[in-house]
Amino acid sequence: MQDSKQKQFAMDAVEENGNNIALLGDNIFYFAELGMQEFRTTGLMTEILEQAGFEIEWNISGIPTAFIATYGSGKPVVALHTEFDATPSSSQMAGVTEQKPIVDGAPGHTEGHNVNAAVMVGAAVAVKKTMEQFGIEGTLRVYGAPAEEQLVSRPYFVRDGYFKDVDVALHDHIGSNLGTVYGLRQYALISAEFTFKGESAHAATSPWNARDALDAAVLMDIGWDKLREHLEPSQRSHRVISNGGDQPNVIPNTSTIWWFFREATAERARTLFEKAKRVAQGAATMTDTSYSVNVLSAVAPTRCNRVLAEVIQNNIEAVGMPEWSEAEQKLVTDLQTKVNVKATGMPTQVAQLREAVQSVSANDSGDVCWVVPSGVVNFPSNIPGIAYHHWGAGVSLATTIAHKGAVAGAKTMAASAIDLFMDPQLVAQAKETFKEEIGGVEYRPLLPDDQQPPLELNRVLMERYRSAMEAHYPKEKPAFS
Ligand SMILES: [Zn+2]
Repeated sequence: MQDSKQKQFAMDAVEENGNNIALLGDNIFYFAELGMQEFRTTGLMTEILEQAGFEIEWNISGIPTAFIATYGSGKPVVALHTEFDATPSSSQMAGVTEQKPIVDGAPGHTEGHNVNAAVMVGAAVAVKKTMEQFGIEGTLRVYGAPAEEQLVSRPYFVRDGYFKDVDVALHDHIGSNLGTVYGLRQYALISAEFTFKGESAHAATSPWNARDALDAAVLMDIGWDKLREHLEPSQRSHRVISNGGDQPNVIPNTSTIWWFFREATAERARTLFEKAKRVAQGAATMTDTSYSVNVLSAVAPTRCNRVLAEVIQNNIEAVGMPEWSEAEQKLVTDLQTKVNVKATGMPTQVAQLREAVQSVSANDSGDVCWVVPSGVVNFPSNIPGIAYHHWGAGVSLATTIAHKGAVAGAKTMAASAIDLFMDPQLVAQAKETFKEEIGGVEYRPLLPDDQQPPLELNRVLMERYRSAMEAHYPKEKPAFS
């Protein structure tokens, strides 16, 4: 790690495109596309990357909105990856301190994935320019990962070998500070639908002719609750009955119970899932029904490599916190007061490097972290104390707060990538310590071999709102130099 002219060039390149990074994030904010339906979002991202000289590969793992953009060749292979999907029923105007949808009922961004995308593209364009300017060798690969909010895409990328030859990977995610961590960050998760099939009959006149699929779903629920006493306290499991039949006088011939199984390690999540299949078989036996399983997502815990965290931290300190204006701080404290959280304002100091505390949440980038040394850049575009998916988390995302945070994040990501391209020792150290960190764990995908991605996810919902949302798209598009 050093203060090289190459790094300065990369950070200046981010700064020069600051306005375009802001415009890209704002455009994606107003597109507000749900997972697997991010066609305009990825269209704009790849248009920029293509114009900047990247080669675009579409349809990664058969997902239409998944892409890889590549520049350069040979070693090392440095990957940047991030997500860009919105959340349902979250439409929220930017820059106001009350709940006010842009389009009532429509999707919106309430976890800053619009800014994540802008940071990654801004960093990628700057790194590419720097590589070209100084003749830096290696491959820069940018992964567009759809449907993070439903934990879909990256486990497919890893299972299908798209990270096989990657040396190090950097992920960026919105936060309330400029910071990074190392160690285990999140949980493993398997999301699966269990569908029972039986036979209908009139519930009053001939119930003895039926095989009740809803009974099977209910018995699976009861069975799991009995088992719960004997499970490790580290597990979390929860469910909804997403199909419980149509009306009471028709005994349901189909039912679906949708489960999330969470555990601290991938193997323990796998064990929970295997137990769940046995409980389902028990419920099917009791009701003379049959069952099938559809795995909607299956992700390993996220984790970060210490060496990469140190590289990132060094650059965080070089970049520093953005200067917040009085008006920005006022918006932040007004919103914090409105939603009853501590009125701290935006932080003025960058975060210190720390070991992560493993949380029970999950992110679909988990699998990447078990095959490649991984680092994360968190950047300050979210208002402190506001929980994601709350309307308040949409407020800052298309304002100068998000714009400034994005530039700081993109500079950090770009400078860290340049460090890795220029110092083969760093990459070697990251790989060596990565092996020590994961110990004897041998990665096996949690995703079944034959599982296909859910391409229809959110399609109907997105189509319902698209035309009403189009009226609010920004007129101005980014034009990166
Ligand atoms: Zn997120």
